[in-house]
Amino acid sequence: MTAQLIDGKAVAARVRAEIKEEVARLKAERGITPGLAVVRVGEDPASKIYVTGKKKAAEEVGFNSWEHHPDETITQEELLALVHRLNEDPAVHGILVQLPLPKHIDADAIIAAVKPEKDADGFHPMNAGNLLLGRPATRACTPYGVMRLLEEVGCNPAGKRAVVVGRSNIVGKPQALMLLQKDATVTVCHRKSDLPSEVAQADILVVAVGVPELVKGAWIKPGAVVIDVGMNRKADGKLVGDVEFAAAAERASFITPVPGGVGPMTIAMLMKNTLEAAQRAGK
Ligand code: NAP
Repeated sequence: MTAQLIDGKAVAARVRAEIKEEVARLKAERGITPGLAVVRVGEDPASKIYVTGKKKAAEEVGFNSWEHHPDETITQEELLALVHRLNEDPAVHGILVQLPLPKHIDADAIIAAVKPEKDADGFHPMNAGNLLLGRPATRACTPYGVMRLLEEVGCNPAGKRAVVVGRSNIVGKPQALMLLQKDATVTVCHRKSDLPSEVAQADILVVAVGVPELVKGAWIKPGAVVIDVGMNRKADGKLVGDVEFAAAAERASFITPVPGGVGPMTIAMLMKNTLEAAQRAGK
């Protein structure tokens, strides 16, 4: 392997330490304790693990945190009423509704019901729109975390060719916009793209598709910075990314491992979004 590993776990720990200091300052100077409310509907096992991790991180950095855990039979109206209550609660600065929601719930309507200034995930259409317009916005946590990883390895996107594989609303699209804002020349790929030829152009490659090892190491431009957002569990229980790691690491200059790359950053940036919401609320 010639690439240097990007240690997302270590960077995330640094981000959390920075947040913890800011929380102490906010408490001491303005008497404000940031509060994160997490809503988990029903018994999805993956959601339970994610929410536990988020609550633990919130407590570690000194936030107040609350988990609301309605039964999966909750109606759309009841869930909207819960979101409205949290919107009006001054102790709550960040609200996160863990996805996926049960099929009878309109997830878009629930996300849109969260006050944009309390939208800890950065998924609200107002925040997505402000990102598009280049205005201040709460940023989607995963791509925001990727930008911090690039910064940490001294990779300035300006003038570079960035290729984002995947165009979801929560990763690919906001990632492309954040890279564009940093003056990269950005290409966004999807199922109809000619992946080998597009990937071969990338100085910065971000892959978020959810297909194990879809991107082959041989496609990677020598010296590229490779960020693998994918998290896929194989039949043998092993977690792998969307990039063929060992072969890609022979060509890249920097590469994120899976696990231990982007994953820890997502939670750290969720804490950052909540801290910033609390800082704004106190003004
Ligand atoms: P998603 O909503 O399913 O979107 C997947 C995207 O990948 C779509 O745009 C799709 O293209 C594209 N795609 C799928 N198969 C493809 C193929 N064969 N060739 C080219 N493009 C293909 O997924 P997501 O929510 O963005 O998540 C992507 C991955 O990241 C998943 O593994 C997820 O677990 C992981 N993830 C990790 C974190 C983290 O914290 N580490 C956070 C979020 C997501 P079309 O638009 O053409 O269908």
